[in-house]
Amino acid sequence: MAKKSYNVAISDARCRSCGVCWDVCPTKVLGWKPPLNKAIVKELSACTGCKLCEWLCPDFAIVVRTEGVVNMARPIPEPARGRI
Ligand code: SF4
Ligand code: SF4
Repeated sequence: MAKKSYNVAISDARCRSCGVCWDVCPTKVLGWKPPLNKAIVKELSACTGCKLCEWLCPDFAIVVRTEGVVNMARPIPEPARGRI
């Protein structure tokens, strides 16, 4: 079974701590960090790549990219493990 992996990049400079992204994320990937409550990625592995956070952030602070496809059926070869 193949599973896509995603990267969620958040710009601290653009984020205004409005909370839209962590409210709309259906799988609770996103959160915030005190004291300014800027958005952060808490659980990247739960990201489905739906891009709701990217589309709804009013300050264009989030970019979601597809990183690759992980084949869940095959074991990862030993030398490659550290790089994934
Ligand atoms: S929606 Fe955008 S501006 Fe609002 S908290 Fe998330 S990243 Fe920051
Ligand atoms: S792309 Fe979807 S699942 Fe991933 S962090 Fe954004 S809202 Fe959450």
